[in-house]
Amino acid sequence: MEASPKPMNILILGAGGFIGSNLIAHILKHRDWHIHALDLHGDKLAQHFPHPNLHFKQGDMRGSHAWIEEQVKACDIVLPLAAIASPATYVQNPLSVFELDFECNLDIVRLCVRHNTRIIFPSTSEVYGMQAGQPCNEETSNCITGPIHKERWIYSSSKQLMDRVIYAYGVHHNLPYTLFRPFNWYGPGLDNVWENAPSNRVIATFLHSLLHRRDITLINGGAQKRCFLYIEDALEAMMRIIENKDGAATNAIFNIGHPGGEASIRGLAETMLELVAGQPGYSNIRNEIKITSTPGGDFYGAGYQDINTRIPDISHAIEKLGWQPTTSLQDGLVKTIRYYLDQKR
Ligand code: UDP
Repeated sequence: MEASPKPMNILILGAGGFIGSNLIAHILKHRDWHIHALDLHGDKLAQHFPHPNLHFKQGDMRGSHAWIEEQVKACDIVLPLAAIASPATYVQNPLSVFELDFECNLDIVRLCVRHNTRIIFPSTSEVYGMQAGQPCNEETSNCITGPIHKERWIYSSSKQLMDRVIYAYGVHHNLPYTLFRPFNWYGPGLDNVWENAPSNRVIATFLHSLLHRRDITLINGGAQKRCFLYIEDALEAMMRIIENKDGAATNAIFNIGHPGGEASIRGLAETMLELVAGQPGYSNIRNEIKITSTPGGDFYGAGYQDINTRIPDISHAIEKLGWQPTTSLQDGLVKTIRYYLDQKR
């Protein structure tokens, strides 16, 4: 545990999700900072409730304006993590994505402007859209989305507009900000793999199928690729952004991903099948399930459109934050699979 001369106060909204719960566990373990946290659900944080540095409030951002404003005023940093980040919802309930990811969070951004509080905002790798295979760069890549009837792009567009709003507040109103762009982060706490929630992300969906000995469904054959980053590596980047040594993260945008963690979705399914087969009780799984394929429109709805490749250029994070990932996809998947199996033991 590192003691600070004056411990920081950090407000985390959407604290109980995948990133928030992992970040809070990490901070409470390694720093003496105070975390003021809000979420609709506290299940993933419950084990930390007795910790004196965690101040958790259960509630909806929408009905907590006065409480949030008090915290924004008093805290050193605001991390608004509450967002919908699942392709099924982009297609099936696009307005809910716009309302939470853009509208609700715009109120928080404006509170940070009013009280001049530093904001660390989750942008997304989705803002880059349909790149033709070249690594996505924060300074030089265009943001390429599909036609309006492809509703998948409402998430990318909402986040992109928010990036532009925050950037403009930074330039024209001196808002201190950092934007970070997660590229397919995964690990313990990703989603509930014991339920078949349509909102689960691909690693959780495949794990759900494997652990229940059901067939895996690839969308459109699974040739599309993603670069997967293990959560512990992502947390290390987040800590460097929060600590902001020599102002390296001030008014900056960072891709946080693992170019070396690239896999096709079919390759991911095959690797996960192999790894689960190595776990006690699953040695016969290769004979029990099949890897199948279905069109994206049938799986998600007509408004779905896929992204073929999404590779982060992380040279900015390497140079400014001195950060780079160290966990291989294979090692990260093993840790993730073991974590979920341990929940059942
Ligand atoms: N995917 C798949 N089968 C599933 C779930 C997802 O083949 O059961 C694919 C999906 O079409 C996409 C990739 O896996 O190409 C990653 O999906 P995820 O939901 O994790 O989000 P994305 O990376 O597209 O934001």
